[in-house]
Amino acid sequence: MADLNELYQQVILDHNKKPRNFKALETPSITQEGHNPLCGDHITLQLEMDGDVVKDVGFQGSGCAISKASSSMMTAAVKGKTKAEIEAIADEFIKMVRGEIDPETESNHLGRLKIFAGVKDFPARVKCAALSWRTVQAAVEGSPDAVSTE
Ligand code: ZN
Repeated sequence: MADLNELYQQVILDHNKKPRNFKALETPSITQEGHNPLCGDHITLQLEMDGDVVKDVGFQGSGCAISKASSSMMTAAVKGKTKAEIEAIADEFIKMVRGEIDPETESNHLGRLKIFAGVKDFPARVKCAALSWRTVQAAVEGSPDAVSTE
C-alpha cells in the first residue's frame, strides 16, 4: 500500500504544481465562490455553459495542495459534462472522501478521482478535498450564495 500512496501523492503534487484550467474565463455563464475557513482554502470557479453542458471551465484561488489538486482534477472531470452528470459525480466524490462509499466495491463514475479515496483517513483534509466539488455543485444548482465548508 505504501507504493500506491506514493503514486497518489505524486498525482496530487503534480496537479498542485501545474493545476489544469487555472485561468479566468472571458465570458463565464456562472461564477461561484467557495471557502474553507478551517484551512484557508479559497476557490473562484467559472463555468461557460453551452445549454446544459460545460463548454469551458476555469478556477482561481489559493489553498493547500489537496484543495488545489482537487480543484484541478475537478475542472478536468466536469468539462464536457451535463449538469446532472456533474451533480452525480460531486455527490459520489464527497461521499467517498467522507468514507461513506467505497469506490473499489461500489459502482461509481469517479474514474481517476478515486485517488482521493485515502483522504477519508485524514479528517482535517476532507473539507479541503470536498471544497471544489461543493463549489461546482452550488454552481450548477444556481446557488446565489458563496459556499462555505463551515
Ligand atoms: Zn486545505
